[in-house]
Amino acid sequence: MGGLAAMSNPEPFIEVADAVFVGDGEVLLERLVKAVHLLPGSKVAFLDSLGEGLYRGVSQVPKVYVQDLDSAPHPTIEIRSAVVKPVYGDGFYVEISRGCRWLCKFCLESFVMYPYRVRSLGTLIKLIERGLRNVGSRRVVIYSLSVFDHPTIRDLLRYLINNEVDFSLPSLRWDTVGREDLELISASSQRTLTLAPEVVDTDLSCFLGKCFVEERFTELAEEALRRGFDLKLYLMVGLPGESEETLHKTANYLRKLVKYAKRLGRKVSITVNPLVPKPHTPLQLLPLVPEEVYQARVRLLEQELSEANVEHLKWSHAFIQALIALGDRRIGRVLLTSSSEGFSRRTVARVAENLGVDLGYPLKCRDVDEAPWRAAVMPLDRVVEKVSITLRQQIREC
Ligand code: SF4
Repeated sequence: MGGLAAMSNPEPFIEVADAVFVGDGEVLLERLVKAVHLLPGSKVAFLDSLGEGLYRGVSQVPKVYVQDLDSAPHPTIEIRSAVVKPVYGDGFYVEISRGCRWLCKFCLESFVMYPYRVRSLGTLIKLIERGLRNVGSRRVVIYSLSVFDHPTIRDLLRYLINNEVDFSLPSLRWDTVGREDLELISASSQRTLTLAPEVVDTDLSCFLGKCFVEERFTELAEEALRRGFDLKLYLMVGLPGESEETLHKTANYLRKLVKYAKRLGRKVSITVNPLVPKPHTPLQLLPLVPEEVYQARVRLLEQELSEANVEHLKWSHAFIQALIALGDRRIGRVLLTSSSEGFSRRTVARVAENLGVDLGYPLKCRDVDEAPWRAAVMPLDRVVEKVSITLRQQIREC
């Protein structure tokens, strides 16, 4: 097994997998191809020959990664389901960078995919030329994090525009996007801009690593609306130090933006998520917001923003996320058994009780010494652990 979730905490997954690979897949691929002849007969010899980065449930494994993304392989013939459309629509999916240099305190992907690496413009153009030959539409889907941090993103977008290639961009870090960038994005068929301010309060947003500057954000959001974009905004609740006042402030600000959008015939949709503490991040030792507090905060935002379309992640889904992200192998067993008995909240609770597993841990503050995810060692762990211990000491809930 591999990938972001499994490598960030391999322990629960070791219940179903023989091994979890902690690292970039490109490092493993060549070894995998050379060793595959050992299967199905010699399973242990196969795993032995895969080398470093493989967690097999015993000793800690440091992450292995490609130093130079530009020379790492990238598929130009991509596998697609014949039945289900890919999540961002048809087209050639291209990874322009990996990781994210901002390292917001809650962000799993930026810490686990550290260090931030980029592909050069020349490599990207070659990949796109080849990749487009193998898809049905002249469309490129860029799915990397905070794409306007890429040093030549604007040249890349101009290249696509000049060559009549449509493109789609993912959620953008708003303070990296300039007004002139909106003009570039306008040339694509994308009509919704996804931004994640998370919180409007200055202190709290700066604490997270995403300083919200009202004037600058308003300027960008209003310009985007005037240019005909709809906005999809992400908010986060259940943050340390958050109060009802924080949420009123957020709602008051967004209400004005929603009204402005309405006057222009545009839409603003808002998605609310709870902060789910994730391993290897500075917030890893903090608790998940209790269900009743989360529901009350979502209700408050829904009522105060009745003119916008407000959606939220179900608390139970966030709770399951936290159970897996922060749990040990016993939670793997609980979830596996629950899945074979018709997965539901009630089944998980019953199976956990039968197996003697306490499901309360996501809701409590935790110690770094008891962190099961230490099985995987990430490049920034030492400094992150120090920061997370300091934050834990400062947080009232702990
Ligand atoms: S800017 Fe976005 S992707 Fe980058 S660290 Fe912050 S939340 Fe993560």
